[in-house]
Amino acid sequence: MTKSTLLDGAGTAALIRQELAEDARRLLARGTVPGLGVLLVGDDPASAVYVRSKTRACEELGLFHETRHLPSSATTDEVVAEVAAFNERPDIHGILVQLPLPPQVDQERVLDLVDPRKDVDGFHPENVGRLVQKRPRYVPCTPAGIMELLRRHDVPLTGRRAVVVGRSDIVGKPMAQLLLQADATVTTCHSRTRDLHEVTREADVLVAAIGRAGLIRERHVKEGAVVVDVGMNRITREEEAVDQLEPSRLSAFRARGSALVGDVHFPSVSRVAGALTPVPGGVGPLTIALLLRNTILAATSA
Ligand code: NDP
Repeated sequence: MTKSTLLDGAGTAALIRQELAEDARRLLARGTVPGLGVLLVGDDPASAVYVRSKTRACEELGLFHETRHLPSSATTDEVVAEVAAFNERPDIHGILVQLPLPPQVDQERVLDLVDPRKDVDGFHPENVGRLVQKRPRYVPCTPAGIMELLRRHDVPLTGRRAVVVGRSDIVGKPMAQLLLQADATVTTCHSRTRDLHEVTREADVLVAAIGRAGLIRERHVKEGAVVVDVGMNRITREEEAVDQLEPSRLSAFRARGSALVGDVHFPSVSRVAGALTPVPGGVGPLTIALLLRNTILAATSA
């Protein structure tokens, strides 16, 4: 039986989108149509789904979007040329380079070329530096969305122990920064952390951004902790499904042959956590809402 309160990321994201609709209307009324340029390289099906969700969300708010889709054989120079073209366009206020890029493409060179004023993902070194110095321009969408979720659910952070598992530039590191800036005492864990469960059990707020289905189990979580599950992992094996899914999701899994799960083992962690984000319907929708916010911000400051 589920004991944790579910932190409704999808509902919070819908609320944020409603608020943003107002901002978008104001901009549209003064003749500015916020525009998002999306660069998709290759044929990764998950990336295509993410891009589609993001562009659909733009349409709902009346934002302009344009996707440039390059083949998986694209060279760094070809990708760079597309970014440069978006940089020059006055109708494109935000640029999103969907990751991962194919291995032959120099990701650093591509991301460094994005105009920092159009860097709505917040990955450019200038924006990373600004975030660390607590004068942010664009905060990476996933951690920014998580902070909104925590704030809107009155999760106290000042003086609390926060543990982030994962140290990627996209999620783990900016997440730890934001929690630190909210006066939590923050520990970051990664693949070399010893006795992970002993560290995570200290957490009042635990954020899992790992990319390993169900790695965080009951033994990793302190009774009553707030647990945020960033992971998005597709499982296809019956044994995994039986282990990881609530019984109510099994028939859908069998019909589709796959299911999306997080990094948190939901059936066991929901017995001990005080509050927990579901997957799907947790962090994912927040990421999209915050991308819209950053794009509107970019158009407002243009
Ligand atoms: P990365 O692969 O870039 O980073 C994963 C991190 O997890 C690394 O720091 C790695 O450590 C750490 N790690 C890996 N294995 C272990 C382990 N056994 N114990 C402890 N730490 C471990 O992934 P991302 O940060 O990009 O994404 C993480 C997850 O979040 C993925 O499932 C991704 O799909 C999802 N995601 C979801 C989003 C959303 O909107 N919901 C948005 C972005 C990502 P090390 O550094 O030592 O290798």
